[in-house]
Amino acid sequence: MVKVFIDPGHGGSDPGAVGNGLQEKTLTFQIATTLRDILLNEYEGVSVLMSRTGDQTVSLSQRTDAANNWGADFYLSIHINAGGGTGFESYVYPGVAAPTTTYQDIIHEEILKVVEFANRGEKTANFHVLRESNMPALLTENGFIDNTNDANKLKSSSFLAAIARGHANGIARAFSLTKKPTALYKVQIGAFRIKSNADNLAAEARAKGFDAVVLLRDGLYKVQIGAFASKENADSLAAKARAAGFDAIVYLE
Ligand SMILES: [Zn+2]
Repeated sequence: MVKVFIDPGHGGSDPGAVGNGLQEKTLTFQIATTLRDILLNEYEGVSVLMSRTGDQTVSLSQRTDAANNWGADFYLSIHINAGGGTGFESYVYPGVAAPTTTYQDIIHEEILKVVEFANRGEKTANFHVLRESNMPALLTENGFIDNTNDANKLKSSSFLAAIARGHANGIARAFSLTKKPTALYKVQIGAFRIKSNADNLAAEARAKGFDAVVLLRDGLYKVQIGAFASKENADSLAAKARAAGFDAIVYLE
């Protein structure tokens, strides 16, 4: 299990940088929660802890304490830049070696693959969250809130989603995360043009203890008795159905 600590910068009484009608704390939170959802919904073997789950005031020490106490494998702090400039940059603590620098290389690259930002480069800085975290740590600065061009991009929720997607792609590659199977192995015992035929077979299957449902797919009423992420489980149910006299097939859909 890879434990990823996601730290949306600022929050509560600390809005972070502000400009062009935007607040940094709101943008970092939106990126962070989308990133969390992508990791948990689409990948196996990953768990996530957030430094804040709403608009709370959380000190820098509270953030790194939470990551250290949890025993995170990776600390990711998400920020929006300000102060004159444009584009994306990332930071690690000065003098750190691999794997931290490798994670920076990979995540920096994956973000710029899907996000239309100028590349300001991979940098180092003596930031609290990079220094006081006991695990590899990266801080990203995703555009400048006080730059009209960057701010106009940051006003779009699909742009923020792309930033989250870039971070997710980077974390997945850096930690070799496996995608959850999107298709399932379906166990089917019949397919009919006439619904009553499918209903009759489903009733017969239920009488023999199978959990049968009738689904309309591509103009056919299909009688399905199970759907599994694992082929073994599907094959095993199909064998049981055949032993009970049904003509079971397994297919991936
Ligand atoms: Zn910040």
